[in-house]
Amino acid sequence: MNFDYAIIGAGASGTLLASSLLAHEHFSDCSLLIIDRPGEAYKDRTWCFWSDKTHPLDHLVSHRWTQIYAGDTPHSAYQSIAPYTYQMIKGVDFHDYFRPRLKASKQVHWCEDEVLNLSEEGQQVAIHTKGTSFYARRVFDSRFDYTLLAQSKDYPVLQQHFVGLFIKTKTPSFNPHQALFMDFSVPQKGNTRFMYVLPTASDQALVEYTLFSHEKLSYKAYLDEIEAYLEERGIREYEILQTEQGSIPMSCYPLWQTDSSRIIPIGLAAGWAKPSTGFTFDRTVVRVQRLVKALIKGQSLNTVQQKDRFWFYDLLLLDILDQKNHLGASIFSRLFQKRKPQLILKFLGEKTHFLQELSIMAANKPWPFLMALFKRLLKGF
Ligand SMILES: Cc1cc2nc3c(=O)[nH]c(=O)nc-3n(C[C@H](O)[C@H](O)[C@H](O)COP(=O)(O)OP(=O)(O)OC[C@H]3O[C@@H](n4cnc5c(N)ncnc54)[C@H](O)[C@@H]3O)c2cc1C
Repeated sequence: MNFDYAIIGAGASGTLLASSLLAHEHFSDCSLLIIDRPGEAYKDRTWCFWSDKTHPLDHLVSHRWTQIYAGDTPHSAYQSIAPYTYQMIKGVDFHDYFRPRLKASKQVHWCEDEVLNLSEEGQQVAIHTKGTSFYARRVFDSRFDYTLLAQSKDYPVLQQHFVGLFIKTKTPSFNPHQALFMDFSVPQKGNTRFMYVLPTASDQALVEYTLFSHEKLSYKAYLDEIEAYLEERGIREYEILQTEQGSIPMSCYPLWQTDSSRIIPIGLAAGWAKPSTGFTFDRTVVRVQRLVKALIKGQSLNTVQQKDRFWFYDLLLLDILDQKNHLGASIFSRLFQKRKPQLILKFLGEKTHFLQELSIMAANKPWPFLMALFKRLLKGF
């Protein structure tokens, strides 16, 4: 079977891209193949991001927080992030909304199968799955594999890795307006480690033990840290409603640069995760918009993602964490101590201007950054 476009993987990036293509009249005559692995694994996560405006996914937001805290001092004050709110979309709500709509479209052929490999054959890309082969003029591929990154000699590769428990406590234990964005008061053990607590009711929260480091821990090690953390806060009786776990790549390796104009990586596979934090969802929304715009205008897809100054700031931070993994807690804590959270969120969202970025940089001790800059200048970009 032949198609105009094929999307491999109906996760966050594949789904948002498919939905954006179908929404635009430019693609109204196009056929679209969407292939995703069978099963329900796609429902396994929640996505959080911050926003200061209304957006097309507002109706899927299940919770909003108006205050956050990030730092290494226990019991410090939460700060308002107005006009931003920190928002959560549950994967299950996202997919329950988009999947039936995509499947119902006359332009879409939905296929549940595992893609094994792709090959370019003249003007077409052959997509070989376990069950069959398809052909498309252009393929957007969201299969992500760490091995490509592992080959990178020029850029450090860390992971944001975590296990999270959705818990229900016996007694009210949380303030559902306050998100504990990064609690670095946990033992760092030579890494950058923090607890992330998102209460959705006074007796319910997602409690996630997270590291920015090279290697994952055993599953039990994350659970032990969560248990100890809750115990220290007097939370001993709780039910685990659900769990989530993940590993998000943290690297400046330009995964989006490929030789092919027909096979285009998207999502994590294209390096859409913010290298210094692992936040990906909001960036996916923006990059999908840029990708669709470039396709409509027939422009080069290089406009979707570039090595810009934010990429460079991320690179310096990753160079530091690669060599001195324990410094993350002090760098992030100082930032949130010395600057308003709104400015930091704006910076992490890559919407600041240069003077604001200088003020962000001045919040931290300059020495590790100057050393990283010096080494990077010698190494190259
Ligand atoms: C548990 C978890 C929580 C996260 N929370 C946040 C968050 O709060 N905020 C944030 O910004 N980011 C978060 N992220 C990071 C990021 O937003 C997600 O990983 C996001 O889902 C990435 O989108 P994607 O399209 O690149 O990959 P995915 O959403 O993982 O989609 C890839 C799809 O490809 C399919 N696939 C893979 N291989 C094949 C194959 N061979 N054949 C067919 N199909 C295949 C998979 O089944 C999957 O559906 C989280 C990640 C995880 C794992």
